[in-house]
Amino acid sequence: ISASIGISLFPSDALSAEQLLRNADSALFKAKSAGREGYALYTEELTAHAQHRVEIAGELRRALDQHELRVYYQPVHDLHDSRLVGVEALVRWQHPERGLVPPGEFIPIAERTGLIAEIDAWVMDQACRQMCQWLADGAPLSFIAINVSSRLFARRELYEQVAQVLHATGLDPAFLELEVTESAVMDDPEVALEQLHRLRELGLRLAIDDFGTGYSSLLRLKRLPVQKLKIDQGFVAGLPWDEDDAAIVRVVIALAKSMGMQVHAEGIEQVEQARFLLDQECDMGQGYWFGRPMPADEIDWTRAPLVRQD
Ligand code: C2E
Ligand code: MG
Ligand code: MG
Repeated sequence: ISASIGISLFPSDALSAEQLLRNADSALFKAKSAGREGYALYTEELTAHAQHRVEIAGELRRALDQHELRVYYQPVHDLHDSRLVGVEALVRWQHPERGLVPPGEFIPIAERTGLIAEIDAWVMDQACRQMCQWLADGAPLSFIAINVSSRLFARRELYEQVAQVLHATGLDPAFLELEVTESAVMDDPEVALEQLHRLRELGLRLAIDDFGTGYSSLLRLKRLPVQKLKIDQGFVAGLPWDEDDAAIVRVVIALAKSMGMQVHAEGIEQVEQARFLLDQECDMGQGYWFGRPMPADEIDWTRAPLVRQD
């Protein structure tokens, strides 16, 4: 097991035990958001952050009730022929004053307050309905990818929730891809293995998101019933010039291929990155160069920006 630590000092940070604990909790939140197994010291700005979090947590409840959440869709292209083959559903919060709030600002808070289960269930329902609509309209999509919070991944209810959404929306599970992060899977590999096998029984596909950012045991990876690895955008950013990124990307592609998985790169912003990935036989690409996340009605099915002109 591992630990994250938040530290608040007496008497410089606070005089009462209550306030010290609150401060330590803010520092703990900071330590956790900076990655696992770290520590952070309390600072005064953290109180401002904590206030902001409390505000957001309160407002999120309203956001759900007042239908302020939106699902955006980002295109995923086949790198070989540039065809649009799938989309990833990404949640947004259309806040009445703050405007469009990205998930990085509220998902971690939702995870902490427990609202994440409702948010993810809602996104899944919306995205599956949208996919049914697109398929009925003849869109040439082969999958819709949906993110699952690591908090839910550890729970058995996830299976029932997914089964229920598939039943309610009528989406053929073969079109559904669930994305779980590497750390969610590796935190408790035995539970993960069981959970992934059950989900697979529903007939859907599984992908590991942000691959390369956590610590994977290759032995465990080999046993997982997963069909795709998504290379984290942090490695794509340095392509093709950064030698370390290039080396890592080559290895991840080789690893995925040798285990019979598809490989999909995120965060492609430049054509040179797409070309490098194509040369290394990466299957799919996603990123601003192909298209940003957008509302469902703005997706253009015919767009196929060529990675190679010849
Ligand atoms: P992710 O699943 O790895 O999604 C990819 C993120 O990269 C998205 O950020 C996307 O907008 C961004 N992105 C795509 N192409 C590019 C590019 O070319 N350059 C750069 N710099 N960024 C690019 P977004 O939408 O802000 O989402 C952030 C994260 O929030 C997601 O990372 C995912 O982990 C989480 N998330 C999003 N929607 C949901 C959801 O419905 N449920 C849960 N549990 N998590 C979600
Ligand atoms: Mg994702
Ligand atoms: Mg990712």
